[in-house]
Amino acid sequence: MDCIFCKIINGSIPSAKVYEDGDFVAVMDINPVSKGHLLVLPKKHYVNMMDMDEEILKKTGIVLKKLCGAITKALGVSGVNLIQNNGIDAGQIIFHSHFHLIPRRPNDGIKIGMEHRKYEEGEMEEYANKIKNAV
Ligand code: 5GP
Ligand code: ZN
Repeated sequence: MDCIFCKIINGSIPSAKVYEDGDFVAVMDINPVSKGHLLVLPKKHYVNMMDMDEEILKKTGIVLKKLCGAITKALGVSGVNLIQNNGIDAGQIIFHSHFHLIPRRPNDGIKIGMEHRKYEEGEMEEYANKIKNAV
């Protein structure tokens, strides 16, 4: 399989690795949104988060918390965004599931892209019901 993140994980493509355990590696993003931007990669190839099994997802939460703490402590930043893009229309470019940890500093001018809109009358309830019934 021609996956750039699998190649990073198996060492055939170089990366600046900051963390590794049995299930994950974390590397510096080569084109950071801010200095210190990490990518947390499950070692197993999953296409996106929906594809990940429950056991690895439980471990994902723990590793993300650990790395978020490390970023905060090491860089002295005041915030961290956790971003995970699922699917092309959500901005996913590399189809090996991964989590972005983006350090944030006061007045850093970074726009993560949450542009809020309005629902029409009754529309929110309609969407809520659809989702509720699918859970
Ligand atoms: P996505 O949009 O799929 O969520 O994010 C893919 C990320 O991978 C981007 O932030 C991009 O900068 C990063 N990236 C792309 N190619 C490489 C690479 O070869 N090495 C590293 N470390 N990051 C990469
Ligand atoms: Zn992969």
